[in-house]
Amino acid sequence: MFALFKKQNQPTETKATNNKVTFQELLDIKDIRVRRPSNGISSIIEQTILDVLSSQEDKGGKKLVQLVSYIFNQLGYHTKINDGFNDKKQDVLIFQNKDDDKPILVIQCKSYSPQNTKDRIKIGALSDFVAYTEDYKDCRMFLTTSYFYPKTIEDFADRVILVDRIGFIALLSKAFPIETANVMNTLSLHDIKENCKECRHGKLQLLFFNNIPNFKCTNCATKYKAVNRQPVLYKREKY
Ligand SMILES: [Zn+2]
Repeated sequence: MFALFKKQNQPTETKATNNKVTFQELLDIKDIRVRRPSNGISSIIEQTILDVLSSQEDKGGKKLVQLVSYIFNQLGYHTKINDGFNDKKQDVLIFQNKDDDKPILVIQCKSYSPQNTKDRIKIGALSDFVAYTEDYKDCRMFLTTSYFYPKTIEDFADRVILVDRIGFIALLSKAFPIETANVMNTLSLHDIKENCKECRHGKLQLLFFNNIPNFKCTNCATKYKAVNRQPVLYKREKY
């Protein structure tokens, strides 16, 4: 039966198959056996994405600025972070080459959690940014973890690249597909209360092996024993 199923579903005319490219490669799906463990930098990126998209305050928006810089580095550009009060609304500068004087893109970042803030990006924020970036008419971006009011989009979308939360997540997926998928996996399971102590954000799914309850992280594959229904760290499994 399985053989029949396999035969029927085997692509016969796909060029890729003729060239011995597997569907895994064709669809660019990371092999589940090597998806984990991630290296240290990958874990930091993952944690930063989670922090920036969570309801916790990103005080001063520093994490968002850092993450935007990571994104453009990952996409092959050089970046400079402007911090402090005298940044002239230009938080991140993007350069084609390391020693270039003039940036090819200037970005203002606004960390604004929709979970906690009863406001969106208003015209005033864009007016200020536009005033400070006269020299960068075709290469300026305003990026937020929130959204823009319709009037803001109407007035500024032809002058500034406006990136809202949806655009930002799309950008993250482009630069850091695995890390973003890991975070989205966690955020999609918000109904599960317990967090993993190992990776600090995976959720603990209650499982039963031979009627014995235990917990397993949905992200890093750490296993927990259930003691009085509470998860107690047990061991890290491969998958
Ligand atoms: Zn975990």
